[in-house]
Amino acid sequence: MDFRRCRQKNSQSYQRGPLMYWMNRDMRLQDNWALLATATMAKELGVPFGVLYSLDPSFLGGGFRQLSFKISALRELEQALSARSIPFFLALGNSLAEETVRVVQEQGCGAIITDFSPLHVQQAWLSTLVSKVQVPIFEVDAHNVVPAWIASPKLEFAAYTLRPKLHQLLPDFLTEFDPLPTQTLAWGGTVPSIDWNAILSTSVVRRDITETGFAGGETAAHKALARFLTDRLPSYHTMRNDPTKEGQSDLSPYLHYGNLSAQRVALAVQKSSAPEEAKASFLEELIVRRELSDNFCLYNPAYDSTASFHVWAKTTLDAHRGDVRTFVYTQEEFEHAKTHDPLWNAAQQEMVWTGKMHGYLRMYWAKKLLEWTASPEDALAIGIYLNDTYSLDGRDPNGYAGLAWSIGGVHDRAWGERPIFGKIRYMNDAGCKRKFDVPAYIARVNRMVRDLQK
Ligand SMILES: Cc1cc2nc3c(=O)[nH]c(=O)nc-3n(C[C@H](O)[C@H](O)[C@H](O)COP(=O)(O)OP(=O)(O)OC[C@H]3O[C@@H](n4cnc5c(N)ncnc54)[C@H](O)[C@@H]3O)c2cc1C
Repeated sequence: MDFRRCRQKNSQSYQRGPLMYWMNRDMRLQDNWALLATATMAKELGVPFGVLYSLDPSFLGGGFRQLSFKISALRELEQALSARSIPFFLALGNSLAEETVRVVQEQGCGAIITDFSPLHVQQAWLSTLVSKVQVPIFEVDAHNVVPAWIASPKLEFAAYTLRPKLHQLLPDFLTEFDPLPTQTLAWGGTVPSIDWNAILSTSVVRRDITETGFAGGETAAHKALARFLTDRLPSYHTMRNDPTKEGQSDLSPYLHYGNLSAQRVALAVQKSSAPEEAKASFLEELIVRRELSDNFCLYNPAYDSTASFHVWAKTTLDAHRGDVRTFVYTQEEFEHAKTHDPLWNAAQQEMVWTGKMHGYLRMYWAKKLLEWTASPEDALAIGIYLNDTYSLDGRDPNGYAGLAWSIGGVHDRAWGERPIFGKIRYMNDAGCKRKFDVPAYIARVNRMVRDLQK
């Protein structure tokens, strides 16, 4: 275990007692540095270790889609842990941090290990824990290949400033995982059983946000990875920007919920016999772009507001606030795909019905929010609401960075000046028509929606 991935969040010293991995962002047993750190420390201290997940079913107004995906993953995880004699605990409720403190204290834990997320909600839970428990708390970056705080100690300007740093560190961090040490000691306390069906049926969540074709959990995640490696990776560099083709990996829900380790994906891609161009193109997205998003959220606490935009972007957007907007839609009109543009509506419908919008269209979709709302603030707020409500990979640094890129030029540069956008990069449907068969995409989405509505 490479303990550079781990940092202590308080100054408490170890109290005799079992160790608890408080799992948040990385919901998996395999290839999980936070679980490996917990098991390694427990072995050294000669104490047992367990895993705790804190579940707020209505987390940030989430839907049944997200809840059901999470529960599939957690059910599978509970069984996989149990097969290795690792107890699994669930803290359930709306006051997650308090519930977590209660379980940790009830179980008499001697230290807590958690996985790293740069997002406000998780950081706030962690702060509550730090203020309320008297045992050491460690944070492990189990999500990034290079731990975010080692990749860079500051906010990066763009991919070109982070890329060389990551590439220099990759030989050191993009390594094979250690085997998970075996649990040899029995857990002393009681491990309550969990009624997953009751949680699924009684939780107050938006049930109109229905399940999709994505099944949560490590087994489904590894199947999706295997399919990607054989069927799609070889042509990723040529097909990834065409929404009419199955060119992308569709791994983002699994990466977002941590059912799959990005490091495992990167190792598998490196080993594959796909063309080098395809591998390089995919690894640029998986490592550089994804880890740039974590850097943005870690070092820019305003990541979900226009305050995160650069001065040049704020200045140019301000200069165009008074520009005439030919179309201005409400959040509800956007949500129900009621714009004048069949391409935008199809992209929105794709997200609403499948839980995922194609990556190329995500840029077009967000750019049009800027064009068709009264202000950049409205555009960003509506974009975050729609993406986080309907996407299975939503509430992710990638979403906040992607929206800030589209609406506020974050990680981008100034372009030629034009109405509303100022110097923010513009996109229109003519550009889409040059890239792919727009009518074919719209027809496919409409057909799919009709079939699903039957
Ligand atoms: C407005 C907007 C919103 C976005 N919202 C999200 C979101 O909520 N969640 C999310 O995971 N991604 C988001 N992205 C980034 C990107 O579009 C998705 O990661 C990608 O489409 C996911 O599909 P895939 O796994 O099939 O991608 P692939 O092309 O197969 O890429 C593999 C992985 O690389 C990473 N990746 C790919 N493109 C990017 C990118 N541009 N930035 C950062 N990482 C990237 C993702 O982890 C992705 O799963 C957003 C982009 C934009 C422009």
